[in-house]
Amino acid sequence: MNSNASRPSIPHPNRKQALKRARLTAGFPNIVNGQRIDSSKRIKISDPVTGEELACVTETQKDGLDQAVQTAKAAFPKWCSKTWNERRDLLANAMEELKAHTDELCTILTAEGGRPYSLAQFEITWILETYVPALLQMELPDTTWNETDVGQITKRYVPLGVVAAISPWNLPFWLSFIKVLPALLTGNTVVLKPAVFTPLTVLRAADYIREILPPGVLNVISGGDDLGPWMTSHPAFQKVAFTGSSETGRKVFASAAPTLKHLTLELGGNDPGIVLRDADPQVIAESLFRSMFAVCGQGCVTLKRLFVHQSIYQALTEALISCAQHQKLGDGFDPGATLGPIQNRPQFARMQTTWEEIQKAKAPILYQGEVPSEGAGLFFPVTLLDNPPAEAGYVMQENFGPLRAVIKYQDLDEAVRLANGTPYGLGASVWGTDPELLEAVARRLDAGTVWINQHLNVHPNVPFSGHKSSGIGVEFGEDGLKEFCNVQVIANRR
Ligand code: NAD
Repeated sequence: MNSNASRPSIPHPNRKQALKRARLTAGFPNIVNGQRIDSSKRIKISDPVTGEELACVTETQKDGLDQAVQTAKAAFPKWCSKTWNERRDLLANAMEELKAHTDELCTILTAEGGRPYSLAQFEITWILETYVPALLQMELPDTTWNETDVGQITKRYVPLGVVAAISPWNLPFWLSFIKVLPALLTGNTVVLKPAVFTPLTVLRAADYIREILPPGVLNVISGGDDLGPWMTSHPAFQKVAFTGSSETGRKVFASAAPTLKHLTLELGGNDPGIVLRDADPQVIAESLFRSMFAVCGQGCVTLKRLFVHQSIYQALTEALISCAQHQKLGDGFDPGATLGPIQNRPQFARMQTTWEEIQKAKAPILYQGEVPSEGAGLFFPVTLLDNPPAEAGYVMQENFGPLRAVIKYQDLDEAVRLANGTPYGLGASVWGTDPELLEAVARRLDAGTVWINQHLNVHPNVPFSGHKSSGIGVEFGEDGLKEFCNVQVIANRR
């Protein structure tokens, strides 16, 4: 997740003024057929730092979903008959419009996500300044060749139809737009449902571009727990592009089966990192720490289990503790805060349950930080476990919060076995200095992406996918575009 985007300092250290300028009172209606659609059935969206209500969104019912789907279906023939360049130019215009509102979108994202403003800024500018330019350069041109006895073959990538996009709460803008943009570029129309807990930034963004894209091409609807299942079983969708937990991913798979929808499932992760004995703890500690605690540990592809060769365990853990001591948990609008709260109450409750298990097991703690002493924020302290059993339940599960296990190993084969030993296979990494050994270990790790001396570093041109329970299908790169297409062959016997 490296970005070239410049990062101005936080423009609004006063959260009250910031929120006023972000015009929360202007509302967050659904955007369907290019119109703002309001409703009396509402869901309250809470601020994870203050516990107060930030805004209300529509609790879309079945008829609201039907309307969005019919609109998207009606818009499809015209949208898919536009040329690739026409669609690309319209999307480029829409994204330029969002750039003009970056500050407002970052402020809303800071408020609903709870994370530091600089991280909200990174999420939005990475999409607008790194992802979009790369995506809009991509094409899927026809290819033509001759086959004896068949004739001239033309292979085309044609759109699927109406796509359901469903995103999670942790990176709502990022994970929504990496679905919507390739789906639209390839000629599909979309109904997007942001997460129940963090729909605001995406709804506001859709509001800004509703008159730039043709009506019905992108529809964004918010809702409660029922809306996702209604979408995945709706017969009019040709595809579901989903990011969320592995548990929900299984339900999406089952729900989409009767209508045989195409699926992309980007699911949970419990990424291992293996630090080889020749690694320099001082060189890698900061990068490791960032990889573990980005988004306050609420990232699918953050490093969650760190296997460290016993010869450097002490030096590396000391360096990690030093990084942890420099963190400040706090309000995203506080310029000094480096990490935020857990975004929502159910996730906070999961973290507390895990912590109780850890205490019950008397697992040794390497470090545990402070949480703000006042306020209603859902803060969980930065916690590093000291060489817990690698196969303990609280290590094997996905810990979606600032709790990480550092595990000592002696035998590299055993470390690789344990690293591969969870049902997940999203990301993994190897750290050290011997290039051949790094590459050899990387090839033994069962994950969609294996990084060497880095972690979490995704790029719009590089395919991203999960192995095992971490997913099905690919995002990013040409492979990601193809996920939104059917292959069609025209076989012409001349
Ligand atoms: P979640 O699975 O609870 O929800 C994800 C989305 O699915 C939300 O919009 C939710 O409303 C919707 N949903 C819930 N139940 C549904 C159902 N039965 N049918 C259809 N939709 C349903 O996940 P979450 O708690 O929002 O997000 C955290 C999870 O997402 C973590 O497991 C994390 O690892 C994963 N994640 C994966 C990636 C990736 O790229 N692999 C990226 C980010 C997050």
